[in-house]
Amino acid sequence: MASNGALDARDRGAMLGRLATERFDVLVIGGGVTGAGTALDAASRGLRVALVEARDLASGTSSRSSKLIHGGLRYLEQFDFKLVYEALRERDLLVSKLAPHLVKPVSFLYPLYKKVVERPYVGAGLVLYDSMEGTRRPVPRHRHLSARGALKRAPALSPDRLAGAMLYYDAQVDDARHTLTVARTAAAHSAVIGTRLSVVGLLRSAGRVTGARVCDEESGRVLEVSAEAVVICAGVWTDLVHELAGVQAGYKVRMSKGVHIVVPRSAVDSDTGMILRTEKSVLFFIPWGEHWIVGTTDTDFDGDRAEPVATEEDVEYILAAANRVLARPLIRADVIGVYAGLRPLVDAAAGNGAKPAGAKPTTKLSREHVVDTPVPGLASIAGGKFTTYRLMARDVVDAAVADFAREVPGSVTEQVPLLGADGLAAVQPAVGRLAEDYGVPRAAVEHLLARYGTLAAEVLELVKGDAALGRPLAPGHPYLRAEVAYAVSHEGALHVEDVLMRRTRLFIEAADAGAAVAAEVAALMGRPLGWSRRRRAAETRRYLDLVEAERALPAVDSVPAPGLALAAAR
Ligand SMILES: Cc1cc2nc3c(=O)[nH]c(=O)nc-3n(C[C@H](O)[C@H](O)[C@H](O)COP(=O)(O)OP(=O)(O)OC[C@H]3O[C@@H](n4cnc5c(N)ncnc54)[C@H](O)[C@@H]3O)c2cc1C
Repeated sequence: MASNGALDARDRGAMLGRLATERFDVLVIGGGVTGAGTALDAASRGLRVALVEARDLASGTSSRSSKLIHGGLRYLEQFDFKLVYEALRERDLLVSKLAPHLVKPVSFLYPLYKKVVERPYVGAGLVLYDSMEGTRRPVPRHRHLSARGALKRAPALSPDRLAGAMLYYDAQVDDARHTLTVARTAAAHSAVIGTRLSVVGLLRSAGRVTGARVCDEESGRVLEVSAEAVVICAGVWTDLVHELAGVQAGYKVRMSKGVHIVVPRSAVDSDTGMILRTEKSVLFFIPWGEHWIVGTTDTDFDGDRAEPVATEEDVEYILAAANRVLARPLIRADVIGVYAGLRPLVDAAAGNGAKPAGAKPTTKLSREHVVDTPVPGLASIAGGKFTTYRLMARDVVDAAVADFAREVPGSVTEQVPLLGADGLAAVQPAVGRLAEDYGVPRAAVEHLLARYGTLAAEVLELVKGDAALGRPLAPGHPYLRAEVAYAVSHEGALHVEDVLMRRTRLFIEAADAGAAVAAEVAALMGRPLGWSRRRRAAETRRYLDLVEAERALPAVDSVPAPGLALAAAR
C-alpha cells in the first residue's frame, strides 16, 4: 500500500538498520532522476528496493539541468527521431497525468532572421515536432509570428534584421524537486531511500554480484547491503563505479559541462521563453519565477565531478550569445546566479577498453541511453535525458530482473502519478479557502501547490502548529520557513545545503546564494535534528564555504562579478 513516502531525516538510524538487515531484490546506486526513477519502477512492480546516494538526492546533474521536459527541437536536426518521439510522449504524460503539479507547459519564441530560408525550415521542423506528440496534447501547437508580433511578445528583442518568429511549446520542471518527488513516491511504495551513503565496493558470491559495501558519510561506518541485483545509476560517476566493481562495461561515459546564468526577470522584457540558434547548439531564455535562466554551454570536461564550476569564459560566452539578439544587452551586473552541470553522455565506441572516440564534439553525441549487464547480478545505465528518466528506469529494471528465478511483472509507472498529483484538480480551486483556514496569504498557498501539489496540506499543517513557520524564509523570495522544517521531516534534508540548493532553489535564485539565511536555516533544521549551537555554526560555515567554492568563477580572465559578490553574507 502506498504511504506518504516521508523521508524523515530523524529516522536515519532506522533506515540504516533496514539497509543492514533486510535482503533486497534490487539495490540502486545513485539518487539522481535515473536512480530515483529506477527505485520507483522496481518498487511499483512489487519488488523490495533500496537506493543509496553518496551525497544528497539530485546533488549531481539532476539539479543542474536546463530544467526542460522536452523533445529537444535540435535533436530533429541530428535525425534523432526516436529520441524526440519518446521524449515528447514522456513530456505529455508528465504534464497531463504523472506530475501536473511539477511539470508545466512553457512557450518559446524562436526569432527568425532569414525570412526566405529560415521560416519554411524551422516551420517544417515544428510541424514534425508537433506531429510526434501523443493524443493527449496538453501543450498547444506552434504558431507563426510576424516581426511585429514577435516584438509584442518579446520587446527585449532588437528589431534589427528581425524577420519574424515561431512560437512553440514545451514544458519545464524544478529538476531537484521532481527527483525528490520521484524518490518519495518510490518510498511510498516501500523503497528504502538513504542519502550520504557511498558505495565503496560490491559484494560477490559464486560469480554473481550480491550487494554492495556502503560507507555512511555521516559517521564513517561501513555496512553491507544484500540484494539479488544491483543497478548502477551513477551518471558521470558510472565509469568509477564500474571500476569499483572490477567490470568492463560495454560503454564509457563522457562528461560534457553545461553552464547557466540566472538574471532577474526585469532584465529581459518578454512574456515568453526564447530559443536562439548559436554556432554550436542553441541558447535558451527560460522563465523561472522572478528570474530567467539563460544557457547553456556544451564543452568537454575532465575536472572534479562533484563540483563542476563555471568559468568567467563560460559566463562571457552566454552573455555574448544572448546579446546578439537583445536590444538592451545583459551585463555582468545582471548576473545573480551561475551554475554548472555535467551531462553523462554515452560513448559506446569507447567501451570494453577501447579508446574514447575523442574526435566527436559533445554536442553531437547521442542523448539516447544505454543499458549494460556486465556480470550476473549487475546492471548499469547511462546517457539519456531528464525527460526520458521513466523509460530509462523501465529498461534497466527489465535488464536487472531478466535472470531472476521468478517472474517479475512489467513496468507500471505509466500509471503511477507522483506524490502530490492525485486529487490536484480538486485542490486548485480551493486556494482561497486554504489561505483563510491556515491564515497565510493566497500567494503562499499558490506557491506551495506549485511545489508540493496536494502534499501542500502537510506543509500548511506545520504552519497551523506554529504560526512563525508561516513567515517567509528570505525577503523577496516566496519560500516559507515551514518548508525548511518539512524538508527535514518529509524530504530527508540532512544539511543546510540540501535545503538551500535543492529543496528550495535560493542557491541559484538569490544574489547571495542564500548565504544571508544559512544561519536561520541551520536553526530551523537544528530544532528537529537536535543540533547544538556549535553544530549549527559548523553547518552554516559548511554552506558558506560551499557557496564560495561553487561561485568563485575560476577564471580565464577574472573580471570581478558584482552581482555574485558574497560580501553581504559575511
Ligand atoms: C547543463 C545541462 C542541461 C540539461 N538540460 C536538460 C533538459 O533541459 N532536459 C532534459 O531532459 N535533460 C537535460 N539534461 C540532462 C539531464 O539533466 C541528465 O540526463 C540527468 O539529470 C542525469 O541524471 P542521472 O540520475 O543519470 O545522474 P545524476 O543526477 O548525476 O545522478 C547520479 C548520482 O549518483 C550518485 N553516485 C555516484 N557515485 C556513487 C556511489 N559510489 N555511491 C552512491 N551514489 C553515487 C551521485 O552522487 C549522483 O547523485 C541536462 C544536463 C546538463 C548537464
